[in-house]
Amino acid sequence: MKTGFLTSVVLVATLSLGIAIGLYSRDDALLSDALASSHESSGEPSPVKAVTPRDVYYPGTEDLNPNEMRVVALGTGMPTIRPKQAAACFLVELGNGDKFLFDIGYGSVERLSAMKIPMDYLDKVFIGHLHMDHFGDLDALWIGGVKMNRTFPLRVWGPSGATPEMGTKYAIDGLKRMLNWDAVTLKGLLDSRGEKIEVHEFDYKGVNEVIYQENGVTIRSIPAIHTADGAVSFILEWNGLKFAYSSDTFPNKWWIEHTKGVDLSVHESFASPQILLDKQKYRPEFALALSVFKHTSPQQFGKVMAMTEPRLAVGYHFYNDHDTLPLMLEEIRKTYDGPLALATDYMVFNVTRDDIKVRMAAIDEEIWPTNPTRPKETAPGVGDTFSDFTKSGKEPMSDLVEQIYRDFNEKNGTNVPLPK
Ligand SMILES: [Zn+2]
Ligand SMILES: [Zn+2]
Repeated sequence: MKTGFLTSVVLVATLSLGIAIGLYSRDDALLSDALASSHESSGEPSPVKAVTPRDVYYPGTEDLNPNEMRVVALGTGMPTIRPKQAAACFLVELGNGDKFLFDIGYGSVERLSAMKIPMDYLDKVFIGHLHMDHFGDLDALWIGGVKMNRTFPLRVWGPSGATPEMGTKYAIDGLKRMLNWDAVTLKGLLDSRGEKIEVHEFDYKGVNEVIYQENGVTIRSIPAIHTADGAVSFILEWNGLKFAYSSDTFPNKWWIEHTKGVDLSVHESFASPQILLDKQKYRPEFALALSVFKHTSPQQFGKVMAMTEPRLAVGYHFYNDHDTLPLMLEEIRKTYDGPLALATDYMVFNVTRDDIKVRMAAIDEEIWPTNPTRPKETAPGVGDTFSDFTKSGKEPMSDLVEQIYRDFNEKNGTNVPLPK
């Protein structure tokens, strides 16, 4: 057992929402600093004044300073989603105004909406591989974006595969076919410019190759090793800060070579073989193979972090609960004693060159979609594309409908005519 492990501390912050999270540091001084700042208040003690600063992130209430990167874990769980954790998705927001999504696993767009970001700021998605727990909510972002007035195409970057049918382009073509009824019925109702998807399929074999470079942001891809050829990891670089995101991978030389010393290193730390055996009742050989060979088990994750020494290591891809968290931590600490956060949904990282702050977001369950930044230019029609058969089934309620229009116009000072 290493000395660093003995001095490891666990800071469990129980937030107003009753969510418990664990943050870990090998440095006791960091803990006392954290505790001191959490009890800081402005001015004299008072039973009626607001207490600031808070150790909670309230979406939509904080400016991002020009040199700051904010990363929000929007999906951190396992392939089967649950109320507490959606599937893989990390939002990266930069002080220059750019926003990026890395993976968009199912369930994650619900979390994204809780961030109160207008949908027309969200048009860039980077997919690490084509398992549904890494891109299954792309449809929700695509169509939801059109409905919330994203008036330009959704841009998607994803890897090629061993054959064209295993690549991102093929998957998106299939998605378009799946959503044909939806897309056709939106025509004429919504601004159709947002219905386009721009697919940038890049070579999965590219090693540290630039796949995106705009506005001072460079994103590179490196190959990942996960279930078949055609999985990748990403490294985003901006303003002297580096964010690395593994998606899913077995430990590999490309990650170890190219993510050394990054600021935020988000790498899968899959549920340990023991957890898969005890909690999910997997067969022993399946539990071992899944955690150790298809993914990166917590001990392997620790080893990868020890070899790359990021400013903060972030593990994800396990059900993060009161009983699993200590087990995962115990495994990771066998091989790594550096700065560590084990992610759960709504964990927020504010990264600058001097500091990395980790908090949980407080979520408004009754959030409404945030209004788009541009005015909506189209109004829905009233369904005149029906066949005579369907039309023949309409119960017109003409008097009532006329009354609804009259009342609405009177109340709002408008003059919306009754459709013909
Ligand atoms: Zn996967
Ligand atoms: Zn996965």
